[in-house]
Amino acid sequence: MKIKMKTPLVEMDGDEMTRILWKEIKKILIEPYVELKTEYYDLGLENRDRTDDEVTKESALAAKKYGVAVKCATITPNLQRMEEYSLKKMWKSPNGTIRRILDGTVFRAPILCKGIRSYVPGWKQPIVLARHAYGDVYSAVDEEVASGEKVYLVREDAAGKVIKKTLVHDFAVSGGVAQAMHNSDDSIASFAHSCFRYALDCNLPVLFATKDTISKQYDGRFKQIFAEVFMQYEKAFEENGLWYLYTLIDDAVARIVRSEGGILWACKNYDGDVMSDMVATAYGSLGMMSSVLVSPDGNYEYEAAHGTVTRHYYKYLKGEETSTNSVATIFAWTGALCKRGELDGIAELCVFAKRLEAACVATIEEGEMTGDLIPLFSREGVTPRKLSSEEFLHAVASRLERA
Ligand code: NAP
Ligand code: MG
Repeated sequence: MKIKMKTPLVEMDGDEMTRILWKEIKKILIEPYVELKTEYYDLGLENRDRTDDEVTKESALAAKKYGVAVKCATITPNLQRMEEYSLKKMWKSPNGTIRRILDGTVFRAPILCKGIRSYVPGWKQPIVLARHAYGDVYSAVDEEVASGEKVYLVREDAAGKVIKKTLVHDFAVSGGVAQAMHNSDDSIASFAHSCFRYALDCNLPVLFATKDTISKQYDGRFKQIFAEVFMQYEKAFEENGLWYLYTLIDDAVARIVRSEGGILWACKNYDGDVMSDMVATAYGSLGMMSSVLVSPDGNYEYEAAHGTVTRHYYKYLKGEETSTNSVATIFAWTGALCKRGELDGIAELCVFAKRLEAACVATIEEGEMTGDLIPLFSREGVTPRKLSSEEFLHAVASRLERA
């Protein structure tokens, strides 16, 4: 008997190799067990172009309506893609559009397997990294300044009357550069809510850090808003034996390296940009990094952290065999199905999702994996064997069948 669903999942299809894997994952690993109910949106580049990108907005609004979405990787067009697909326009990044509509925070977590060692041997549990994806240097204005000029920070009221004018620097001796950036209380508070909510979901303690000893007003505001928002979650954290620690960014980096993992690390925009690459690399392959966008009002969009794996797709088009890692995309499906199960009170759906995840991990731990993992794998008594994209899915299916 297949598991029945109540509310549909919002299904956002995508491009290239991941689009090929998407169909196969559904056919081989999900549809035999679940009477899948989805509202389908084709975010493949051709359809985005055909619909003037309306389909991306519609899919994000559907995610807001139903609460849970699963997304395939998509092409963000550049000049070369404009030619390749004869596009009408250089459409914006779908992930950016979805994030703007859901006002969400992206959490990235590695999928761990025995035999695939982290470059930081002490990291035994996942480090989940949350990046505040609004403001700071990413929407700053900056200018070159000539020798002899002065730069001020000027504030006006709504009528345009100057309230305060502060000298940033007198460039009397030498020219240079100046920059002004901002953030908003609303966005910082949304970020804090998303982090605490997601930490409770995943049963993780939270580490948040800035440099408020130097940036007293700016980073001081982040620290203060996080402390205020945390008051709403303090009781739930205590009941679950979790903690929230605010510290300085230098101290946070040291703590993370010394830790065993098992932490949600909330980062300001720039820190998150830099540290997410560091954490992802330390855990091994891009094919093993999952990602979820969580909005402050509790909508979820699950996806793999990697892109459409173009090089493998061109091989596939030539009829050559590929060995593309589908684990992060499978985990996007299991994350979404399990969340749907939680929200709709369908326990079997969560049990199935956890079994499928365990089957993926067991397949790799027993030595059957895609090519990207082979050089990372070492486990006593197990000789790793490289499987094709499709063979890997069937290897997972055979273990799922046993479970
Ligand atoms: P990518 O698709 O992540 O691939 C980069 C390289 O990483 C691949 O060529 C492959 O290396 C390796 N890799 C990534 N995922 C893998 C997997 N599942 N299994 C095995 N190897 C994997 O990034 P990209 O080449 O920079 O971008 C390709 C397209 O994806 C672009 O059009 C970009 O816009 C889009 N993109 C979308 C998203 C998203 O939708 N979230 C994110 C990033 C990029 P080898 O070739 O050496 O095997
Ligand atoms: Mg980065």
